[in-house]
Amino acid sequence: MSVHPPLSPGMAVLDIDLAALTHNTATLRARVGRPLMAVVKADGYGHGIVESARAALAGGADALGVTILDEARTLRGAGIEARVLSWLHTPGTDFAWALGAGVELGVSTIEALEAIADAGDGGVVHLKIDTGLGRAGCPPDQWPALVARAAELESARRVRIAGVWSHFAFADAPGHPTVQAQITALHEAAEVARASGLDGFALHIANSAASLTDPGAWCDMVRPGVSLYGLDPMGGDPSEYDLWPAMRASARVLMVKEVPAGTGVSYGLTYTTSRATRLAVVPVGYADGIPRAASGRAPVTIDGVRYPIAGRVCMDQFVVDVGDADVHAGDEVVLWGDAAYDEPTAQEWADAAGTIHYEIVARAGGRFARRHHNDLRGRAHG
Ligand SMILES: *Cc1c(COP(=O)(O)O)cnc(C)c1O
Repeated sequence: MSVHPPLSPGMAVLDIDLAALTHNTATLRARVGRPLMAVVKADGYGHGIVESARAALAGGADALGVTILDEARTLRGAGIEARVLSWLHTPGTDFAWALGAGVELGVSTIEALEAIADAGDGGVVHLKIDTGLGRAGCPPDQWPALVARAAELESARRVRIAGVWSHFAFADAPGHPTVQAQITALHEAAEVARASGLDGFALHIANSAASLTDPGAWCDMVRPGVSLYGLDPMGGDPSEYDLWPAMRASARVLMVKEVPAGTGVSYGLTYTTSRATRLAVVPVGYADGIPRAASGRAPVTIDGVRYPIAGRVCMDQFVVDVGDADVHAGDEVVLWGDAAYDEPTAQEWADAAGTIHYEIVARAGGRFARRHHNDLRGRAHG
């Protein structure tokens, strides 16, 4: 949510291509040939949760995945009736609302399981085992007790166990030995659950990376996120998987000025002009999710020409040294978009900032206006 008023329309925009989201979902869904839960947490990775959810459903998503119940509430509030799984619950979470709204619940602890049963009958639960990520998920030594209690509650018809699931630590390194070890551990956990009397649950573990690279991880359902937004989780070229980047970040040049050689640029004067040149000021900065760590490095294009950022990214602006190019106030500066259209990519920004593209798109916000398009590039409908 923006705490700033958006800039006047056109000053800085995140253009979101919903046709790309729909296309990417259909591409992934066809690739795996089984149910697909589209992960739309974190405001749809910065693309808008409701719009992203609708676009993914249009592409054949069978269910939606979110972290907290507030996100599920947003989806239901928008009239989206699809299956939704929510998996991060702090103590005191209003499970009664989830039951009434038919939202399925990821559970890692007996406490959460009991709280769901206490909130009413019929809660749909996915039991999460930690197979090696070391984050949420039930530790293996407590798994037998969790599934035993779940089986009791299920036979008393107080809950229904619809899933046994886990999450990868390192699937973006295909072939890494932890990937197979986690799959094996998930199947073992499922055996323990069956031995306790549970059955008919779906097994799921595959994120985007595993959905793209490892059929052995697909199980009964996949849960991709970032790939649906058109980004390759391995950091490569998404077009190799026929994925279309859905976010295009751009801003308008605020002013252009002529400066002599030897002019220091932006805080700390880390960049100095080597010749008489022209500087273009771009009115977005780290308050808008532009990583300050990308100072002096990240690429932009203006009229198809590439420039690195000159000097530090500030809170509200950064500077580009455009030389004698014919650049004027009001010209469009593309920060990231789609390499297929000769635009810099979120991956290049991530490399410049020492992070991953997930963080680049998920944090973009602040004073950017966000606009959704049915088919921004005109490729989905001819
Ligand atoms: C975020 C998340 C996903 C999706 O991961 P991607 O790498 O974006 O595909 C799947 N499952 C869980 C539990 C997650 O938190």
